[in-house]
Amino acid sequence: MSDSLQNQNGGRTVAELQRRLADFAAARDWGQYHTPKNLVAALSVEAGELVEIFQWLTPDQSARVMADSASAARVEDEVADVLAYLLQFCEVLGVDALAALEAKIERNETRFPTSGNGHSME
Ligand SMILES: [Mg+2]
Repeated sequence: MSDSLQNQNGGRTVAELQRRLADFAAARDWGQYHTPKNLVAALSVEAGELVEIFQWLTPDQSARVMADSASAARVEDEVADVLAYLLQFCEVLGVDALAALEAKIERNETRFPTSGNGHSME
């Protein structure tokens, strides 16, 4: 993971957050459970929990979900769960998540060229 790729909230890197997650698990002897199969299953469960928040909302309600502090807190909590399991999954498999994302964006920019107005579906 490139240390030059930092978020804008305290300059923490993805690698630093992955280290904290690994240290947290190691301190509780949870590493034995962090197989790729278990982590990807946990990722899917947490993604489902994120979907559950939106399940019965109208499109307008879903667009305003962050306006309600309780709903916003639930969304942020599930986003954290999803990202934590994705980063742990990447760590055990040696996947550089940001490099994989950058490569995917570059492939998509080639696969789906714009027509000049920013709308490739026209
Ligand atoms: Mg959760």
